[in-house]
Amino acid sequence: MQHDCLFCKIASGALPCHKIHEDAHILAFLDLHPIRAGHALVIPKAHFTWFEDLPQDLAARVTFCAQKIARAQKLIYQVPRVSMFFTGIHVPHAHAHVVPMHHMHDVTSAAYLQDGPGAFSAPPRADAQELVDIANTISEHLIN
Ligand SMILES: [Zn+2]
Repeated sequence: MQHDCLFCKIASGALPCHKIHEDAHILAFLDLHPIRAGHALVIPKAHFTWFEDLPQDLAARVTFCAQKIARAQKLIYQVPRVSMFFTGIHVPHAHAHVVPMHHMHDVTSAAYLQDGPGAFSAPPRADAQELVDIANTISEHLIN
């Protein structure tokens, strides 16, 4: 654990999150600034800055969990596709974004350029009670 890392603090339970899934190796929770409702993050509990440095078994666990979340999101939101991606922009702890896609440009750059091409405009922070409800709904829809 890195003491100055936000996601290490969440993984250890020192900071709260809207949890979707947790096991000994990984944690999945809702992004506070969702691109779309249900936007989830999947992280390894161990600190790795870059996804390409994850051991193979840990990378597979992150991907498998994201697949389960994607199936739940498709069911809940009735979307044709779910996007999974690693950006490494805001928190230096490898995390996969899992986003239900209502529009083909939900995760493309034009939506994040309101502050100019050198900046990044995050979506607005979601309502706390809405995040609680969504985390519960996705958790209940996770199937192996
Ligand atoms: Zn960390």
